Amino acid sequence: MARKIGSRYTAHQVLGRGSAGTVWLGEGPEGPVAIKLLREDLASDQELVGRFVQERTALLGLEHPHVVSVRDLVVDGNDLALVMDLVRGTDLRTRLERDRRLAPEAAVAIAANIADGLAAAHAAGVVHRDVKPENVLLDMQGPLGPGGSHRALLTDFGVAKLIDTPRRTKATKIIGTPDYLAPEIVEGLPPRASVDIYALATVLYELLAGFTPFGGGHPGAVLRRHVTETVVPLPGIPDELWQLIIQCLAKAPASRLRASELGSRLRELLPMLAGMPPLEVDEPDTESAEETEREEQPAGPAPERARRRGAVPLVPGSKPADSNRDTHTSMRVPAPDELAGGAHGTARAPRASGTPRPGSARNRAATRRRRLALGAGAVALIAAIGVGAWLSTSDDDASTPPGDTQNSAPQSP
Ligand code: ADP
Repeated sequence: MARKIGSRYTAHQVLGRGSAGTVWLGEGPEGPVAIKLLREDLASDQELVGRFVQERTALLGLEHPHVVSVRDLVVDGNDLALVMDLVRGTDLRTRLERDRRLAPEAAVAIAANIADGLAAAHAAGVVHRDVKPENVLLDMQGPLGPGGSHRALLTDFGVAKLIDTPRRTKATKIIGTPDYLAPEIVEGLPPRASVDIYALATVLYELLAGFTPFGGGHPGAVLRRHVTETVVPLPGIPDELWQLIIQCLAKAPASRLRASELGSRLRELLPMLAGMPPLEVDEPDTESAEETEREEQPAGPAPERARRRGAVPLVPGSKPADSNRDTHTSMRVPAPDELAGGAHGTARAPRASGTPRPGSARNRAATRRRRLALGAGAVALIAAIGVGAWLSTSDDDASTPPGDTQNSAPQSP
């Protein structure tokens, strides 16, 4: 079923569907292309159409081996479309769903590609704002890179910004994908280049671990973790690689590396990582961990106890969402007291494969038996030790003032 897009393009078949629209395999005057047809509600938004045209130069200007170039913009009747280079392959999310975790060499090679693409964009004054595995395409027709990795290209440049019209997202709303959102965005600061570095470090962590450092549960809880919690090292990760990741996950934007430096530091690590198998890490169980946390606490108010497992509302009245991976356009910037509300310490601690989950049924039964045996006084002592351990695991990062705007990296115009 062919469909005309403007006067120069024909869309032939659907390649994929995303949050902003449908991507078609198409044909243009210069050969095959990918055509992203924006959702109808976006295409009928006059303000967005205006910005689309306004951003034309920035969107069309990016040419780099690790960026999916936008070749043309089409505004035609009800159609609003971006015509892009066709990448024959898959996206990184699909790859992760298939393999769960990548070997460190391949993960680092992909992250280095994306860092290079970001460096070119940042130099041109463009901030991506929605770096995540869904927006990384893998070219499966080109030559293989280190660790058998496919060349990675970052796509969707400028789309987050286009959708972020003042009417769609007021100053108090957040745009981005909760799992990958830098803490300064959660706190309401304008997004600068360093937000892309934070998101890329999150993606690299996810490629290695199989889960994101601060994800899990209600989006509000995820946002709060970005601001208040720190990450613990993945079991078996080489220290040099871990240091790079935590530097780029720093709460203070100015402490993060620039994209070009991150790219070259990642590439320096490749020889050391050659042949290393994927890390053996089990995903922490957010739901049962949160449930255990609540069990340990004195009885709270009824609505607090009746809360859905794993759903920790940050924004009062908001409903738990099914997915944290969509680009949210209607999330409110939380107030400081909401961010402080009970969250503290270290993010969901990853466990070496085979170690029991902290909140597992096995562990909970053992905890109950221990409680009976030890009595209330001993339980209080254990709680005190627990608090002490938490205090000693909070690293420097958490005490760095968040929202540091010293970063002089170029900002999106
Ligand atoms: P959205 O950003 O709207 O969520 P995406 O850009 O992720 O949508 O596109 C959805 C899917 O379309 C991707 O997962 C991918 O499979 C496919 N796709 C997107 N861009 C291209 C492209 N340039 N070449 C080939 N396939 C693409």
